[in-house]
Amino acid sequence: MRFSEETLSDIMQRFRRELARGLGQDTNPTATLKMLPTFVHSIPDGSEKGDFIALDLGGSAFRILRVRVSHEKKQTVQMESEIYDTPEDIIHGNGTRLFDHVAECLGNFMEKHNIKDKRLPVGLTFSFPCQQTKLDEGYLLTWTKRFKASGVEGMDVVQLLNKAIKKRGDYDADIMAVVNDTVGTMMTCGFDDQRCEVGIIVGTGTNACYMEELRHIDLVEGDEGRMCVNTEWGAFGDDGRLEDIRTEFDREIDRGSLNPGKQLFEKMVSGMYMGELVRLILVKMAKEGLLFEGRITPELLTKGKLDTKHVSAIENKEGLTKAKEILIRLGVEPSADDCIAVQHVCAIVSFRSASLIAATLGAILLRLKENKGVARLRTTVGIDGSLYKMHPQYARRLHKTVRRLVPDSDVRFLLSESGSAKGAAMVTAVAYRLADQSRQ
Ligand code: BGC
Ligand code: MG
Repeated sequence: MRFSEETLSDIMQRFRRELARGLGQDTNPTATLKMLPTFVHSIPDGSEKGDFIALDLGGSAFRILRVRVSHEKKQTVQMESEIYDTPEDIIHGNGTRLFDHVAECLGNFMEKHNIKDKRLPVGLTFSFPCQQTKLDEGYLLTWTKRFKASGVEGMDVVQLLNKAIKKRGDYDADIMAVVNDTVGTMMTCGFDDQRCEVGIIVGTGTNACYMEELRHIDLVEGDEGRMCVNTEWGAFGDDGRLEDIRTEFDREIDRGSLNPGKQLFEKMVSGMYMGELVRLILVKMAKEGLLFEGRITPELLTKGKLDTKHVSAIENKEGLTKAKEILIRLGVEPSADDCIAVQHVCAIVSFRSASLIAATLGAILLRLKENKGVARLRTTVGIDGSLYKMHPQYARRLHKTVRRLVPDSDVRFLLSESGSAKGAAMVTAVAYRLADQSRQ
């Protein structure tokens, strides 16, 4: 699980070729990277304003926000938000019920914030791969992560949500835009830094978007300017291109997942799987007598008993004490050496994740550099996600490895403080302005 410098650059080059394959007309159908056009042409330019609702579905929490953007002296953003439950029976049940639930939460939100009669424009951050031909349409290609509601794949999620809202009849809403969370993150960060042209998420799932030259996007007409492309890099390796670095633990994770054979890169790196990876390694080590004097408990054998937030805790300052607590809860009586070994396992798994993300991000940066034809790339990467934010060492390791892999660059990493929803509101603002212009 520890890569040499050569292996990492090799993965970076592989990913770079995949980017090109995803963009090409003939190669796209069989490419693992879907390189989805987003119909977002630029980051916010500071002229956006208005009163919006942003829905954020598919990350670690389902949130609804009201975002008010005003221009007194300078552009300011005010946000109020609520978090809603998305119980397992709803995200694994019938798609109609899922969207009824979303519409119900939106109704409650409007009620609570006294805006039910306002008909505010709505932007939807939807953190799954969607095929788009315009901003306010998104055909779900496939569910990922924890979601698997029936009857939604292949459908336009904007229409599904509209239908659920109409059916209720107690409020109106115009859904102006659907954006991936990576796009929302890039837009949020672009609000503060005009140089931002990449958005990445390292959370429950993982993904990246970046600004590509339109002349390189075969799937969209036009050659002038740029468009944000959603890479869907979680699917890297789904065609077998990462088999040499996948381990028996990665294969076991995949077999037990909701989407076997899919999102293989995501399963090696993202927060949803990291705790489980560590658990599988501990089980194997215990079985071989390398840990806990060979004792194995039912808890240790239970899927999901070790969470990514435990991995973070174990790698924190008081990590060894934490490791002991967590292992005792798993029913084993760890020795001091066991705790040190477990901490080491956690570090290897999370370090692998940061290194792999550095390789794929590095490839995107190299591509941007080539597109611009500059000797040195100066750019900003907007970034968000629970793993990146919560893990004590992750960010530092990622930044360091990226700078090593792409030496001729000055890369600024900007944490999206307010998540991707502010960005979704920005996209909505632009869409609203354009719709308004065409109405006149
Ligand atoms: C989804 C992406 C999303 C990422 C981060 C992945 O599983 O396919 O669309 O951006 O998770 O939330
Ligand atoms: Mg999110």
